[in-house]
Amino acid sequence: MDSNKQMAQLLFGNITKAPEDYEMMYPKRNLEEGAVVTRFAPSPTGFLHFGGLFAAFVEKTAAISTNGVFYLRIEDTDKKREVENGVSLIVKGLNDFGIEIDEGMLSETEEKGEYGPYMQSRRTEIYQSFVKSLVEKGLAYPCFMSEEELAQIREKQENMKLLPGVYGEFAKYRNISVEEAEKRIENGDEYVVRLKSPGSEDKRIKFKDVIKGEIEMPENIMDVVLLKKDGTPTYHFAHVVDDHLMRTTHVIRGDEWISSVPIHLQLFYLCGLKPPKYAHISPIMKEENGGKRKLSKRKDPEAAVSYYSSVGYPKGAIWEYLMTLANSNYEDWRLANNDADIADFKFTFSKMSKAGALFDIVKLADVSKNYISKLSAEEVYDLVADWSQENNDKLYKLLVDDEEYAKSIFAIERGNAKPRKDIASWSNVENYVSYFYSELWDGKRDFADNLSKADMIEIIEKYKEIYDENDSAENWFPQVRDMAVDLGYAKAPKEYKKNPDDFKGHVGDVAGVIRVAVTGRRNTPDLYEILQVLGKDEVMKRFDESIEILRA
Ligand code: GLU
Repeated sequence: MDSNKQMAQLLFGNITKAPEDYEMMYPKRNLEEGAVVTRFAPSPTGFLHFGGLFAAFVEKTAAISTNGVFYLRIEDTDKKREVENGVSLIVKGLNDFGIEIDEGMLSETEEKGEYGPYMQSRRTEIYQSFVKSLVEKGLAYPCFMSEEELAQIREKQENMKLLPGVYGEFAKYRNISVEEAEKRIENGDEYVVRLKSPGSEDKRIKFKDVIKGEIEMPENIMDVVLLKKDGTPTYHFAHVVDDHLMRTTHVIRGDEWISSVPIHLQLFYLCGLKPPKYAHISPIMKEENGGKRKLSKRKDPEAAVSYYSSVGYPKGAIWEYLMTLANSNYEDWRLANNDADIADFKFTFSKMSKAGALFDIVKLADVSKNYISKLSAEEVYDLVADWSQENNDKLYKLLVDDEEYAKSIFAIERGNAKPRKDIASWSNVENYVSYFYSELWDGKRDFADNLSKADMIEIIEKYKEIYDENDSAENWFPQVRDMAVDLGYAKAPKEYKKNPDDFKGHVGDVAGVIRVAVTGRRNTPDLYEILQVLGKDEVMKRFDESIEILRA
């Protein structure tokens, strides 16, 4: 047996499978031409953040748009950073936004799919099998350097202004003999397994990132760690093994990993594997004081995805918004295809921002208003009921106590060619519907001050006489107009503007008084529809209350 094989046997005597065995267990996927396989690969370190959600969205979208596969892999090799229920938190985070996985972890313990296990801590043997084969080829070795020794070389490198790290002459155990390794292991010495990098300092590599374009970097010369002291893999090595065996075609991840690509490409090459395509996403940016900075978990509440559920942005609106962030041409497409399904949009990596998409909460609200305006009253009802059940008890009770009434409120000016855009998120709803519910409304009337109280009382009293709940929508306004004229108001604002001295005001002022008398507000959706929803008794009661208020 040659010494490399002996070394492999010494380190991994218990590993019986070879990479070829795994190659057979996880065959190439049977997908149509052009189908991409993507993954979301978070560490279970806590809540999902907006950057993670955005990455998952892009990964999911890329898979959907090619009839590919999107899976969830949990990267739990760093047990120190893990939080309790970390996997469930991520799964829930994705579910909350409707990002369904085709394969991968479903909870802390369950998974689905043929390419698992999808949790790295359950794949130790697989990684070790691949490292073993590198050791057999003389491409990896056990390194027994202590923390002190590592600190010493770091200091030396600093003093000599050299690249920090374990490489070349600093890689003390590169050529360790099997005998010495055996002795040390018997002695209980701890070790990591390092790559024996064949890279050279003067060589450069080139690769094409599907978002950022062509990138050139120095080749990797570091003897990077492949397996840590406890036998678990580093990110670099796990990435190579997992994305190969799970047959990922596009590794879509944060661009903090770009600098590691030379390591990754070298590892793919040395393992004899074809590398995937890389798509490195720039971080989401935010404008601040005229400049730009990264969206920050610490400073920005909207960086935590729980923010969107608690404010109550519907999933569909978030998808719309994420797509505007993902592809710069999406907004134009949406304008031209108002009613089309978002799935009909052709997502492309090349339209992703190289500099980092700009997060804009006002834009999100606009996108969401637009999205909500196109939902049916039933859809709005169901979504608000779901949201309020968790976030607004009072509203929830009112909605379920009288479902029909609530739906009739949501039906106001909905389903027509130009629906209103009053609601940006479900937390706007309580205020939006408040004057329909005595439990929510304070009864205050915000009358304008351009008419005298006596004039306003006159309008309300007169209107009480002619109000007929059975009037049609077409008749309603002409009646108000006729009444306005009878009372000395101009029948149109234009007419009033021409000769303001001839009139007390115009029909808009008259309708305004009726509006405030009934709703308390100067601005509302269609008044006729509101009167219909409230019903005659309530409307009359409100007129009387208003007269009382005006008299007081
Ligand atoms: N676990 C890595 C992270 O959370 C994944 C990066 C990747 O997608 O490869 O940063």
